[in-house]
Amino acid sequence: MSSHPAPPDYVDVVVAAERIKGVAHRTPVLTSSRINGFAGAEIFFKCENLQRSGAFKFRGAFNSIAALAAEQRAKGVVAYSSGNHAQALALASRLLATPATIVMPSDAPAMKVAATKGYGAEVRFYDRYNEDREEIGRGLAEERGLSLIPPYDHREVIAGQGTAAKELIEEVGPLDMLMAPLGGGGLLAGSALAASHLSPGCKVIGVEPEAGDDGLQSFRSGEIVRIPVPKTIADGAMTTYLGTLTFPIIRRLAHDILTVSDEALSQAMRMFAQTMKIIVEPTGCLAAAAALSRESGCEGKRVGIILSGGNVDLGTFAKLTGGES
Ligand SMILES: *Cc1c(COP(=O)(O)O)cnc(C)c1O
Repeated sequence: MSSHPAPPDYVDVVVAAERIKGVAHRTPVLTSSRINGFAGAEIFFKCENLQRSGAFKFRGAFNSIAALAAEQRAKGVVAYSSGNHAQALALASRLLATPATIVMPSDAPAMKVAATKGYGAEVRFYDRYNEDREEIGRGLAEERGLSLIPPYDHREVIAGQGTAAKELIEEVGPLDMLMAPLGGGGLLAGSALAASHLSPGCKVIGVEPEAGDDGLQSFRSGEIVRIPVPKTIADGAMTTYLGTLTFPIIRRLAHDILTVSDEALSQAMRMFAQTMKIIVEPTGCLAAAAALSRESGCEGKRVGIILSGGNVDLGTFAKLTGGES
């Protein structure tokens, strides 16, 4: 069993920023006067779609492995994920010369399997209908002495994810609002730690897909609500419950949770491609799509938005953004 250490605080974000310095990209902050005009706000987009491995997950993954003691690092790490955490952990472990094993469903998209293997990780397939990936991950961790690095509910992962918001606020100054996509809550919790310290008074808002609003339900009820796997194009936010480390931080430091439809996500993808010439994956558009809706409360404000990732294959991208040219 992975035990839960003390929750991270802002100091852990600062330590993470030191560890990833010179390795993770300090991603650009982009603005668009056209989008500002449309939203009636001053919006700063933190472009983690341009991060190494294509998403902010590299920050938490690298920080977690770098934080391990040398002998633990030499034994290796294990993760269960078919998405951006897998690729991030595979790349980070290669850079730190640490063996990585990734537990992936046997029907995972070939492109994702190839990317993970391409970074040098060993892929252990499992049958998603009959096997439990967490059990397999824990089993491997015990048998081979590997360190299990979960995708969000982990102190160094949360601290690492918080470095994106830290960079953003240090670059553009205090914000009125900071909006970030919400899956299991590593990104939002880390962002909230950074914002509450660097920009007191900044409202921190998580955004999840309409179809999977467990975060909103949990935020309102005060306890972690579990939901069935949601059907949404935001594949990075299909988590069904918040973490035991992430939830208390979100409850304490975030101000609201909003939801957006899949239709709003593909509209935002189209807007980023056309107006800003960047590719953002569906999950990466969550915060932006919410900001552009009239109910967001962004009008007249300085708003930071985390574009969390850009990993979408071109076929899917064409399907979601096509239809008019
Ligand atoms: C993982 C992921 C998220 C959600 O992050 P959590 O830390 O699980 O809340 C959002 N966007 C992208 C692109 C992701 O890969």
